[in-house]
Amino acid sequence: MGGSRPVFQIGDASLVKVEEQLLHAIPPSFLYPGMTPKEFAAVQPTLTASDLEPSRDALVLSVHTWVVRTPRHLILIDTGSGNDKERPTNPLFHRQNLPYLERLDQAGVDPEAVDFVFNTHLHVDHSGWNTRLINGKWIPTFPNARYVFPKAERDYYSSPTSHNEANRPSLGVYEDSVLPVIEAGLVDFIAPEGGKYLDIFEFIPTRGHSIGHMSIGLTSGGETAIFAGDVLHTALQLARPDVNSVFCEFAADALDSRQRLLKRAAETRALYLSSHFPGSSAGFVAADGDRFTWRYV
Ligand SMILES: [Zn+2]
Repeated sequence: MGGSRPVFQIGDASLVKVEEQLLHAIPPSFLYPGMTPKEFAAVQPTLTASDLEPSRDALVLSVHTWVVRTPRHLILIDTGSGNDKERPTNPLFHRQNLPYLERLDQAGVDPEAVDFVFNTHLHVDHSGWNTRLINGKWIPTFPNARYVFPKAERDYYSSPTSHNEANRPSLGVYEDSVLPVIEAGLVDFIAPEGGKYLDIFEFIPTRGHSIGHMSIGLTSGGETAIFAGDVLHTALQLARPDVNSVFCEFAADALDSRQRLLKRAAETRALYLSSHFPGSSAGFVAADGDRFTWRYV
């Protein structure tokens, strides 16, 4: 899994992906319950070999962290799903044992040296490595980092009564992956309006997939990138931005945020860094009426 690791440069910042895992053979009818087989067949030709299983009838998703190095800071964006987590409502991520920390190490990342951890949102596959299990206790994996995420996510997921059906796969995440970093005093919350962070970053509200979901812009040296989070799950949503994933909690807002962010990515010619596209997980968006096209880099 080490192998060649594309490094993207945005001004002074270098960006590299560290894979946690690939999820194979995801049926389109599962990920996109609102889409008929005929509709999938219509967009399937827009997908590359890396997006699909060789049979081309099932999807491949990646779960990973983006590592950002600036002249001053080492930053991780989203932290995968974690090891040893109890996820009885989500067999895919239940009691995992993945060599994620070894892969971070191969990428030159010492957990103690991480300055910031950004979570686009607090779903199961984006905040798992916020903590790890040591002697039966969940402790911050990155003890010297500030953990930064939208306050609305904390407010919602900290109350078990506010979990809805689409969020069932993330049951337990707040308790084992979020609360321990809050209790350690390591968290900076982002207000609902988002905004600048560390001069070069911008938290961009893209509510819908989750209640306080935010994408993260990065601008340096006149170049720009967007860590989109789960505004899209696969590249087929470029051609069909009107299709939500099964994990999108607030459907109307998710559609609106997708249109808005894709438009912004196209207009600003930003390097788009996906949370779940496989392959390089990076590319460029172009507008095509109210739809979009995608080109991996
Ligand atoms: Zn996700």
